[in-house]
Amino acid sequence: VRRIPATRRRLRLISAALVAPGVRHLVLETADGAAFDHLAGQWVKLYLPGGVERDYSIASAPGEHGAARLALLVTKVEGGPGSGALHAMQPGEELDALGPNGLFVREDAEQSAPALFVGTGTGVAPLRAMIVDALGRGERTDKLLLFGCRTEADVLFAEEWRARGLRFEPTLSRASDAWAGRRGYVQAHLAELLPTLPAGAHVYVCGLTKMIDDVRRVLKEELGVDRRRIHSERYD
Ligand SMILES: Cc1cc2nc3c(=O)[nH]c(=O)nc-3n(C[C@H](O)[C@H](O)[C@H](O)COP(=O)(O)OP(=O)(O)OC[C@H]3O[C@@H](n4cnc5c(N)ncnc54)[C@H](O)[C@@H]3O)c2cc1C
Repeated sequence: VRRIPATRRRLRLISAALVAPGVRHLVLETADGAAFDHLAGQWVKLYLPGGVERDYSIASAPGEHGAARLALLVTKVEGGPGSGALHAMQPGEELDALGPNGLFVREDAEQSAPALFVGTGTGVAPLRAMIVDALGRGERTDKLLLFGCRTEADVLFAEEWRARGLRFEPTLSRASDAWAGRRGYVQAHLAELLPTLPAGAHVYVCGLTKMIDDVRRVLKEELGVDRRRIHSERYD
């Protein structure tokens, strides 16, 4: 994998939209128009009001919105200063960022292996970057995204995955009676879904620590997945 030095620079908010209850999608651009180089799966540190520093995964594939732009996906945490500031930020406003950072990226050799992506909530952000990047490069290996959230309204990018032809398996922990799809936590569906991919899949997991620990345990202890094929990024 290429190493891209992290640099501190100013970013300007170009546009923002609420894409699910409490989830804001933000498109930012370097204030000087310089390219923002990164690898799919990496994150940026943001310097927010009141001396608050928080990290956010880049939800866009490199160059997806143009060389100088990147997208973020932010959950509004109740009383949280970092996510609160990002939900209040208006187009045209600027902030400082340091990045790109992080090793949650797919190595060259992994790009010819099947891939299982497992994310909950905005943990899907770096997975989306990886998937869109892979599809854009014409990567043909089998891919499946297992996505967990509470309700039907919280499902992210369903239309996009349908349009792109990605195998998408959402599961809801608080589904309404009308929901005909999967129910419960993501870890409950691994035993059924992993064998639907060809052998040798790499697994990419992102979200809160408790989910990641549960998923890793099932993959290793129940499904015999080698730990070198499990990659994860924790948000807390
Ligand atoms: C490498 C990395 C990448 C991250 N990428 C993202 C991202 O793409 N989108 C994003 O929304 N957050 C992301 N986070 C979390 C983010 O950095 C903040 O922790 C989060 O926005 C809460 O900050 P706060 O100041 O609003 O709340 P705080 O008052 O600092 O509350 C922190 C608590 O909020 C909870 N929390 C943190 N993140 C989430 C979340 N996404 N969903 C639900 N609960 C959460 C945890 O319990 C955590 O202990 C990432 C964290 C790391 C370390």
